[in-house]
Formats: sequence, C-alpha cells, structure tokens
Amino acid sequence: MPTVFEMIINGDIPSTKLYEDDSVLVILDINPVQKGHSLVISKKAYPNFTDCPAGELAHMMEVAQRVDLRLRSVLGCQGTNIMINNGPASGQEIPHLHIHVIPRYDNDGQVLGFRKTSYDDGEIAAYGARLAL
Ligand code: AMP
Repeated sequence: MPTVFEMIINGDIPSTKLYEDDSVLVILDINPVQKGHSLVISKKAYPNFTDCPAGELAHMMEVAQRVDLRLRSVLGCQGTNIMINNGPASGQEIPHLHIHVIPRYDNDGQVLGFRKTSYDDGEIAAYGARLAL
C-alpha cells in the first residue's frame, strides 16, 4: 500500500509543490501548524530517518535550509521549527521520510508538547558513558 507521499510523488494525488529535484520534493503541509508549514520529502520511500543514507539526509537538510530562508524572507517569520518525527513512537504518521519546516513568529502562541524531565544524582554521567559515540 503506497503512502500518501508516494501517491503525491507519483502524481496520483495533488499537492502544492514548492521545489523538486531528482531526490527531493517540497510541498506545503495540508494541515499546517502555521501557514507556510513545508515538508521536505525524500523521493525514495525510506520509512524513516534511521533508514536513510547520511548523504541523502545531508541533501535534504540543505533543501530544508533553503525553505527556512524562503519562509523568513517571504512570510517574515522570526524562526522555524525543523523537525523529523522518526517512528510511530515519536508521532510519525506517514512512514515515508520527511522534514517539517514550520514558520514561527514571536509570541505566536504555539507550544511544543514536550514535558521535560531531570536526572538523578550521577545519572547524567552514566547516560553520557553509555551513549558516547
Ligand atoms: P508526520 O506526523 O511527521 O508523519 O507528518 C505527516 C504530515 O503530513 C502531517 O503534518 C500532515 O498534516 C501531512 N499530510 C498528510 N496528508 C497530506 C497531504 N495529502 N498533503 C500534504 N500534507 C499532508
């Protein structure tokens, strides 16, 4: 069963395209957090971030940076959220790699939904040791 993004890439359903090259398509999100919310979509159907070769991710980020600059210059947003939901546990709804670029304005009333936690004594060092690359 193709994802919505595969259907868009194949031209089977419509989208509002901002940019396209051999490996990437940029469209407007149909249910934006803010108007102009864009999606940088890999044309290859990698299910998520973890599956994508680093070189292709680098190109996607380069395109996302161009989208960010365009949103700032055309819409006048003061910031952007650049996000990848990676797997269902993170809230990824469409299992086809894409980067969200969301325009943000000073005091725009949007809040990110994370509640932060803290480490017990000594725990941050233990996590650091386990996670060091
Ligand atoms: P994610 O939760 O990271 O998988 O994000 C999927 C995004 O795709 C959501 O923000 C949806 O609003 C957006 N979306 C779903 N269907 C379409 C569509 N047909 N055209 C554009 N964006 C879509």
